[in-house]
Amino acid sequence: MADYKALYQEVILDHNKKPRNFGIISPASHHADGHNPLCGDHISVTLNLAGDSVDAIAFQGESCAICKASASMMTVAVKGKTRADAETLTQEFLAMATGKLDLDSPNQIGRLAVFAGVRDLPTRVKCAILPWHTLHAALNSVASTSTEAEDDPMHAAIGNA
Ligand code: ZN
Repeated sequence: MADYKALYQEVILDHNKKPRNFGIISPASHHADGHNPLCGDHISVTLNLAGDSVDAIAFQGESCAICKASASMMTVAVKGKTRADAETLTQEFLAMATGKLDLDSPNQIGRLAVFAGVRDLPTRVKCAILPWHTLHAALNSVASTSTEAEDDPMHAAIGNA
């Protein structure tokens, strides 16, 4: 677990220093803004689908380190993926962050597993999942989302974590 924590710190620092795909794609075929009132994180995700695949994706915003690192890694993880695979990965990430994913069973999580530890940090779970929440909104053409929105289809999956 100590190694795992060290890796987590290293990844967060690295992605904050050099966020991947930071910026805005314009024009973008899909976009959404996400807000996590608990921490004050605001991010926007813009992406272009080519056929059914994520051809380009970028994020921008004001957020804490965990949210920024999660967004940065998300853009790397979903770039080139089909929309269906991106949605599957989103569900897996949300399940992992809330402690509902068995990491020993087959999954697409890969390097994103460094975020598994947030399940033990209830105040940071929403910071880690906000980018994914926002990606889901963008892919479904919902212009804005909040981790606190009751009518959000993701809310049930997230529960009260
Ligand atoms: Zn945050």
